Amino acid sequence: MITSRKSYVSKMVSELKPSGIRKFFDLAAGMEGVISLGVGEPDFVTPWHVREEAIRSLEQGFTAYTPNAGLLELRQEIAQYMYNEFDVTYDPEHEVIVTVGASSAIDIAMRTILDPGDEVIVVEPCFVSYVPTVELAGGTAVTVQALQENDFKILPEQLEAVTTERTKAIMICSPNNPTGTMLSKADLEGIATYAIKHDLLVISDEIYAELAYDENYTSFAAINDMRERTILINGFSKGFAMTGWRLGFVCAPQEISEAMLKVFQYQLMCASTMAQYAAIEALRNGRPEVDMMVKSYRRRRNFIVESFNEMGLSCHNPGGAFYAFPSIKSTGLSSQEFAEQLLQQEKVAVVPGDVFGESGEGHIRCSYASSLENLQEAVTRIKRFVESLEK
Ligand code: PLP
Repeated sequence: MITSRKSYVSKMVSELKPSGIRKFFDLAAGMEGVISLGVGEPDFVTPWHVREEAIRSLEQGFTAYTPNAGLLELRQEIAQYMYNEFDVTYDPEHEVIVTVGASSAIDIAMRTILDPGDEVIVVEPCFVSYVPTVELAGGTAVTVQALQENDFKILPEQLEAVTTERTKAIMICSPNNPTGTMLSKADLEGIATYAIKHDLLVISDEIYAELAYDENYTSFAAINDMRERTILINGFSKGFAMTGWRLGFVCAPQEISEAMLKVFQYQLMCASTMAQYAAIEALRNGRPEVDMMVKSYRRRRNFIVESFNEMGLSCHNPGGAFYAFPSIKSTGLSSQEFAEQLLQQEKVAVVPGDVFGESGEGHIRCSYASSLENLQEAVTRIKRFVESLEK
């Protein structure tokens, strides 16, 4: 007799926690009149000339698979872009892979480098996929907390404290989601010294590199001697306003790239063909729109950060991305309580900071990729909510 199993779902997957961001989207979706500062994507539509290239590719019948690593023409543009913008040289034939968003780049990087039990240091607060991606690849994620008093930057001694024989890589992200913190060249050099000392790989998520506001942005791979130990992740979603196209890329030294390509070819085969044609156009002729969008985000950042500080929610000035991460500790509420009550009382959706890691507790993430009018109304409502707590 066949006895039925309790569940067909693997132990690992059944133990995975669903993303805390989704929970708030679902709550907000059922309500009317909600202003959402929850979504982590540009409010701009992809520029028309970029969309037109995708249409043109369809008209010409380019509907087949591309090479696994992506159209060579696009990889050449990416290599040129990396050189022009970030001063790093990659061989387009062997060191660049076009992926399905930065998400699949993170996934193939982890699956390529990890043996069971290998450890990856993940700096929190961070994008919600890092820890699950490490775990799904059979590795162990060791989290380390970047603190507000250090401007949400990690200190080398914090990294030293969690490094073991099994540590294989460290995952960093600058500008950061959710804090907006941008690491300076000196910060990156500190991480580089640590990586050399322990012979580690660095997975650098640079998806927000275009959205850097105040200082000169430095790519981790541009730091002396780091190119050889860096897996650099970037893409079109954020800077080029192309989230729905699902197009990213990963650059790494040839040995690692070729290994990642093996994983990618079995996982996804290649990225969407029409999206790749659009991306060629975005890299060739998209600069004016990117600059315009960055200018607009900067204006909104200045407005929202100033507003939070004025209402007594201390907010550090994010150097990049489109997130403000104010502290709500003065209200005495937890991040979850604040977000839930704000949504119920004033219909503003924000993301509780703890979903990004322990050190995110006491904060909320507010995306300012929303119109200035929306932001003004949201700020008025949040202020009214905070004042109601004081009574
Ligand atoms: N990395 C970070 C830090 C992100 O914030 C996101 C999306 O929010 C991603 C990667 C995923 O990007 P993509 O849409 O290109 O998969």
